[in-house]
Amino acid sequence: MRRRGRHAPRPTIRLTEAQAATALKALVDAENYRRVRADRWCGSCEQHPAGACEDHLNDLDLADEFRALAVELGRALPAPPVQEFLP
Ligand SMILES: [Zn+2]
Repeated sequence: MRRRGRHAPRPTIRLTEAQAATALKALVDAENYRRVRADRWCGSCEQHPAGACEDHLNDLDLADEFRALAVELGRALPAPPVQEFLP
């Protein structure tokens, strides 16, 4: 079996439009979850000189990564039909 080198290009992952839309919703949920977690400061946050512990800083970093990927994915998707914006 042939192994790929560490820097070999990775295969592109293709998603259907429906899969991409689902992934986008999952990213939005995941970002919200991480931001809610990060808002719940703990005793370690109070002790930490930066004002937040590593766990909570990691939550914020992940939330930022999820948002960046969601924006990128959203750009690749066609605009939703107008009806989706109506109540
Ligand atoms: Zn904390």
